[in-house]
Amino acid sequence: MEQTPSSHPSPETELRLRLEALQAQSLYRRRRLRDGPQQPRMGIDGRPMLSFCSNDYLGLANHPEVIAALCDGARRWGVGSGAAHLVNGHSRSHQALEESLAEFSGRPRALLFSTGYMANLGIISALAGRNDWVFEDRFNHASLLDGALLSRARLCRYPHADTQALQRLIASTPARLIVTDGVFSMDGDLAPLPELAAIARASGAWLMVDDAHGLGVLGPEGRGTLEHFGLGPKEVPILMGTLGKAFGTFGAFVAGPEELIETLIQSARSYLYTTATPPALAEATLASLAIARREHWRRERLAEWIERFRTGAARLGLNLMDSPTPIQPLLAGSAEQALAWSAALESEGLLVTAIRPPTVPAGTARLRITLSATHSAEDIDRLLAALARLPLAEPTPSRP
Ligand SMILES: *Cc1c(COP(=O)(O)O)cnc(C)c1O
Repeated sequence: MEQTPSSHPSPETELRLRLEALQAQSLYRRRRLRDGPQQPRMGIDGRPMLSFCSNDYLGLANHPEVIAALCDGARRWGVGSGAAHLVNGHSRSHQALEESLAEFSGRPRALLFSTGYMANLGIISALAGRNDWVFEDRFNHASLLDGALLSRARLCRYPHADTQALQRLIASTPARLIVTDGVFSMDGDLAPLPELAAIARASGAWLMVDDAHGLGVLGPEGRGTLEHFGLGPKEVPILMGTLGKAFGTFGAFVAGPEELIETLIQSARSYLYTTATPPALAEATLASLAIARREHWRRERLAEWIERFRTGAARLGLNLMDSPTPIQPLLAGSAEQALAWSAALESEGLLVTAIRPPTVPAGTARLRITLSATHSAEDIDRLLAALARLPLAEPTPSRP
């Protein structure tokens, strides 16, 4: 066998060095092994844990009606859809779910994507091209940034929620798209949508909102960040949402005018060149959407837990962020500090994951605490008691 010349290290050697560098910076990630379904009480790495880190805000991921709909769906439709939507993978279940999502979001049509990541890649790259400008909030989800990169449009990332900066930046360019999270996934705050809508209108850009963390949760009917602000299709023509968070299943959709949906069917590559999700999954989502809409107590319970947590945390002098949502991050600063806090909580049987760069900017590593309607008052209090015991030695730095 020929030896690898020393000037060209083997992939194993080179990658091991990279991994060791991540370890040295406290940026190495590992997967925990969960036993059983997504719910507050779960086995993690063989130990019982109370979890505060899922996106199952309404507690629908393990709901008996949703499970039954998935099982019945599989009996009726089999498992695999067997083809892309444009071949023969588009079932009546997919169609019914698209119609329900269109009605739910108050728009003429909706289109299902396999995942939120794929939806954002497909939507942005279908709508913007080489000579266009796309404006995105600095804290947008990675899939929105990747969508702009894939489109090869010129991408301008404006400072987080800074509408004055956006206004200045956009003044000198013919903007095609302004793209923002509705609820920022790692911060829990809301985008200034009314101001963004005004800027979009004045500049002729289209506003696209990714409401992965707002839908189901915000607004009296759970219609999300837009309902919270009283905005409709006129102000926000392109609404994207995911189904794997508050709705507890899997997948994503975009809702908007007929012409938008038809354009995406013709040209969104992550829609065209992939297999349709199982029809049974659409049946499950139809069930969870119905529960999310009808059971207002889930949103009310969640609001109660957010209030209980924030009041308790303020009493402890914790440095909370300005979040009215179930995402309640606790800034640690360094990645080491975030990991140390997470480990201290884990030793008390509480699972709260540390979020580190590059998911968040350097110096703003944090615990991303998330609350669910299926937590109990005692669960929240147990979390607060454990947070009170954390060594909060390091003063939390302000955001850059
Ligand atoms: C989770 C998330 C996505 C990705 O959705 P998936 O269905 O998990 O691929 C997109 N945007 C935001 C803001 C998210 O939080």
